[in-house]
Amino acid sequence: MHLRLSEEQEMIQKTIRRFVEKELIPLENEVLKNEREGRPSLEPEKMKELQKKAKDFGFWGINTPEEYGGSNLGQMMLAIVLMEVSKTFVPFTFGGSADNILYYGNEEQKKKYLIPTINGEKKSCFAMTEPEAGSDTQNLKMTAVKDGNEWVLNGEKTFITGGNEADFVMVIAITDKELHQQTGRSGVTCFIVDRDMGWKSEYIDTMGEWGPAGLVFDNVRVPEENVLGEINRGYNLGLEWIGFARWVVGARAVGMSERLLQMAIDYSKDRKTFGKPIAERQAIQWPIADSAVEIEAAKWLVLNAAFTLDQGEDNRHLASMAKLYGANMGNRVVDRVLQIHGGMGYTRELPIERWYREARLWRIYDGTDEIQRMIISRNLLKGHVKVGQSV
Ligand SMILES: Cc1cc2nc3c(=O)[nH]c(=O)nc-3n(C[C@H](O)[C@H](O)[C@H](O)COP(=O)(O)OP(=O)(O)OC[C@H]3O[C@@H](n4cnc5c(N)ncnc54)[C@H](O)[C@@H]3O)c2cc1C
Repeated sequence: MHLRLSEEQEMIQKTIRRFVEKELIPLENEVLKNEREGRPSLEPEKMKELQKKAKDFGFWGINTPEEYGGSNLGQMMLAIVLMEVSKTFVPFTFGGSADNILYYGNEEQKKKYLIPTINGEKKSCFAMTEPEAGSDTQNLKMTAVKDGNEWVLNGEKTFITGGNEADFVMVIAITDKELHQQTGRSGVTCFIVDRDMGWKSEYIDTMGEWGPAGLVFDNVRVPEENVLGEINRGYNLGLEWIGFARWVVGARAVGMSERLLQMAIDYSKDRKTFGKPIAERQAIQWPIADSAVEIEAAKWLVLNAAFTLDQGEDNRHLASMAKLYGANMGNRVVDRVLQIHGGMGYTRELPIERWYREARLWRIYDGTDEIQRMIISRNLLKGHVKVGQSV
């Protein structure tokens, strides 16, 4: 075991850092202005232009298998890249990737949905949450009933990221009510549903800068070939989608917090009160120290979760820990950094308040704090994971 990045990982980290500093951070003022005037943060053309530049650097399909044109750098590398990219709030995503569960599609589905998504020609979203089934995913109500060689979908989904922009949704619906009632997990199926099959979406206004959508399915007819994976086994796909997103939240929190902590250090050395820089006061030094320690702790949790996945091992326990700790750490750091900036921290001249609003979501989606605690404690109490066994 060695606790250093390899030469290759360090080289990639530096390259991404340069890309963020040179291409993304200079766009921050423009992004803030666009958002505050109610326009999209980045125009789609601008995003494409940036993705092209990233591609020229060699960053395309970071996590996509080579057979689909990606560079398949693995989860550890993805974690390192995400931590760097999250040092800015410019909402940049590397091109050439698709949701993990789309790889379960058959050859036809891969041609029709996976490859166009990787190529950036189609946008997807994933819909599990319903008005009465958020944390309690076993309380789903949406149904899919077979009629000839089609399934007829009825019900509502809520808080779906990208639901207003997506060309198709991967949606979870009950296909065997009895089985679902008996088991809670089986009896639901994942369907790929094109927008032009008839589902409607409506933007939900949130305290963040981007809004999810509510989706309505009113007798939407879906051909049977659009079942993703196995009939009645869709719950596992849902868990796999959510599971991946969990440790990614931790990685984002680390990136943001490192940038904010540096802002606090710079500001505290510059800002003078009562004749001295505030950096000379213990009241300012301690939150700086606490933040540095907590960022480091979150970083190791994230790297361990990613590394474990790269080994082909089950990382769910670690992913929950990385998400719970990372999300809460990010919220504590942004709050401390805002406090260190005093009134300036609260203004819209600086991006701290934007991050403050964004970070709050991390404690809610992809499983709330409380749900992560339930998972972690259940694993320990039932003996699925032994104390001290996570490395
Ligand atoms: C911006 C945003 C984007 C999202 N994107 C997606 C998406 O793309 N796809 C998708 O399917 N979903 C998405 N979600 C939904 C998200 O995953 C849910 O909001 C989340 O799981 C919580 O569910 P809920 O809002 O129904 O809260 P509830 O489940 O109603 O929970 C309310 C409160 O009770 C607590 N609680 C619930 N049960 C227990 C318990 N047993 N013990 C202790 N406390 C408990 C919760 O932790 C929470 O604090 C998104 C949500 C938001 C806000």
